[in-house]
Amino acid sequence: MNTEHAIHHRKKRILAVDDDGLVRKSLEILLKEAGYEPVVAAGGQEALGFLTQRHFDLLITDIRMPGMDGLQVIQAVRDYCLEAKKHPIPEIVLTAYNDDHVRESAVRLGVREFILKPFKVDEFLKVLERNLAH
Ligand SMILES: [Mg+2]
Repeated sequence: MNTEHAIHHRKKRILAVDDDGLVRKSLEILLKEAGYEPVVAAGGQEALGFLTQRHFDLLITDIRMPGMDGLQVIQAVRDYCLEAKKHPIPEIVLTAYNDDHVRESAVRLGVREFILKPFKVDEFLKVLERNLAH
């Protein structure tokens, strides 16, 4: 198998950040079952560590987390990609239904994709596919 072929068939790698261990575990299982390669992080610092080691096709992040919140994670990931001259990574934010003002802040930051928790699996996967389609 030549390199190009291997890259073409590489599983899409998804970085998922959430401070809730149960959410991380379910995201990991769900993403694996859907044929993706998930890497889960409990917070921004851990996520940034993974980012320097590997290529990611998509970022999914919770908003409400101790330490760096999700918007800070998004900003830090963007800064890193810019500095490292890497392509920007599509971003999906996980928020709760009652978190309107958090969503507004994310929109101001230019985030376009939101998944409301608790989410339906098929809708969740549709949003992922849409953002991995290129
Ligand atoms: Mg949280």
